[in-house]
Amino acid sequence: CSFAHFNFDEALMSVIRKLEYTQPTPIQSQGVPIGLNGRDIIGIAKTGSGKTAAYLWPMLIHIMLQRELEPGDGPIGLILAPTRELSQQIYTEVKKFGKGYNIQVVCAYGGGSMWEQTKGCQAGAEIIVATPGRLIDLIKKKATNLQRVTYLVFDEADRMFDMGFADRMFDMGFEPQVRSIANHVRPDRQTLLFSATFRKRVEKLARDILIDPCRVVQ
Ligand code: AMP
Repeated sequence: CSFAHFNFDEALMSVIRKLEYTQPTPIQSQGVPIGLNGRDIIGIAKTGSGKTAAYLWPMLIHIMLQRELEPGDGPIGLILAPTRELSQQIYTEVKKFGKGYNIQVVCAYGGGSMWEQTKGCQAGAEIIVATPGRLIDLIKKKATNLQRVTYLVFDEADRMFDMGFADRMFDMGFEPQVRSIANHVRPDRQTLLFSATFRKRVEKLARDILIDPCRVVQ
């Protein structure tokens, strides 16, 4: 499909044009309309597929609507990523596409400054991009809360659970933390889970935290 099908406003289209994206990638063509519809998504997609924008563009539109409906504190969008590197990459994309909406975003990863991240949360972050361990630390320290989160993304979910990665979260004991975060976000949320592979652990997680998801494949 073409970008015209998405009906994005000028704030978003001007960034897309500036980046010289000529057409949506397959994961975007499938995922964006479903995401805009409010449905849960299981996305099977690797890095390079354009998956970040596939969940981020509908997220920005969601936040524009939700910030009017429900003013308050705490983020509206929450993106969980398995590593510091990925969380920083996602943060850069959020900054880029969220500019025209004046989206406030913070990136919270283990090893980064708690003070900086707390300041970012308390300055009114509408999106938090986080690794699970650090997010839980921030919640425990009351730097933020998840009460207003209605758009929840798990990026590279397999890297959070599968064996065989040097920086796997599972080894660090993050599976309970990932589940605990999902359980603490209100049930009327929209949940999107992206994974390069779709094996047992991820499938089970998806069954537990998504409601009637649409499956999109790269
Ligand atoms: P991702 O799979 O989200 O990590 O994206 C991989 C790269 O593709 C990023 O550098 C994006 O900026 C770029 N990208 C995303 N969507 C498009 C598109 N529709 N056309 C061209 N490049 C894109």
